[in-house]
Amino acid sequence: MTDKVAVVTGSNKGIGYGIVTELCRRGVGTVYLTARDIHRGHSAVEKLKRDGLNPKFHQLDITDTRSVEKFANHLKEKHGGLDILINNAATIQQNITKTTYEEAKHVIDVNYKSLFIIEKYLFPILKENARVINISSDLGHISNLKNNYWLNRLSKDDIEVQDIDDFIDWFLSSVKNGTLKEEDFAVTPYLAYRVSKIAVCALTRVQYRKVDRNIAINTLHPGFVKTDMTQNNGFMTVEQSCKAPVYLALDCDQSVKGKFIWFDKSERDWTDRNMDLLCTDKETVEKYVAQLISKS
Ligand code: NDP
Repeated sequence: MTDKVAVVTGSNKGIGYGIVTELCRRGVGTVYLTARDIHRGHSAVEKLKRDGLNPKFHQLDITDTRSVEKFANHLKEKHGGLDILINNAATIQQNITKTTYEEAKHVIDVNYKSLFIIEKYLFPILKENARVINISSDLGHISNLKNNYWLNRLSKDDIEVQDIDDFIDWFLSSVKNGTLKEEDFAVTPYLAYRVSKIAVCALTRVQYRKVDRNIAINTLHPGFVKTDMTQNNGFMTVEQSCKAPVYLALDCDQSVKGKFIWFDKSERDWTDRNMDLLCTDKETVEKYVAQLISKS
């Protein structure tokens, strides 16, 4: 394990920071804590150094082509590539119940479109038997969606990027034109985030089929975790939420590919449109949203 090179995107805080911590503790040779902001990144690295851990730092904004290309060149030159890539960085909409076009586009650009920049520059330097983990969410499970046309297109075995891009275009144009229908979704809070994470899961199902060199690509739900993203709500600590991603990165069999993994490391069928999840239960979600709104 000492010769492995691991990269975690958006790891200056939250779950990404926790994953870097655990990978360092587990003895992975080179672990890159990356952040879009150099100061936030350096101070996170300094904090870990005070705890006796030794991650490396590199600037990485996943939406900035030049930043991703620069980092890829650095990894190639210094290490000949990388073994573990954890696509963790993401954002969530600030307006919980109302979806505006500008905010929806931003959330989708950061959470979904950025994965194509990563794929273009980092996939070619993934080493033989590498592992890629696309962090999604329970809000990205297909059961969040209720539109039969999209359910059918996204759950088919031979799904292609075009299916997902068309889904995104449909969503963004219905937000823009005011034609979005509530009945197309199980619940509507955090809708743009839900759509972006559905797209991440769907893309994982395309990527794992196309990639070569026995690379394993999976997606996962880390649990409902107390971080800035959830305004410190949640039933799990950051440390607990890192178990599943670190399991997929280091311990899971290499044959596990294209799966949706739950925070308890079990596999869930992403294509099961009738799966009962708390995030799609109207009453639970409404209670949670009301709580958040009353706090803010
Ligand atoms: P946080 O908001 O705490 O952290 C998000 C991280 O992503 C930050 O480091 C942030 O950097 C970074 N980031 C945002 N935009 C970019 C960008 N363009 N380039 C590089 N980095 C960026 O979130 P969490 O730790 O809670 O979430 C981590 C992952 O887990 C996400 O994918 C999230 O969707 C997922 N998740 C989280 C859940 C939870 O309950 N917390 C539940 C389900 C899924 P900066 O500090 O500069 O903003």
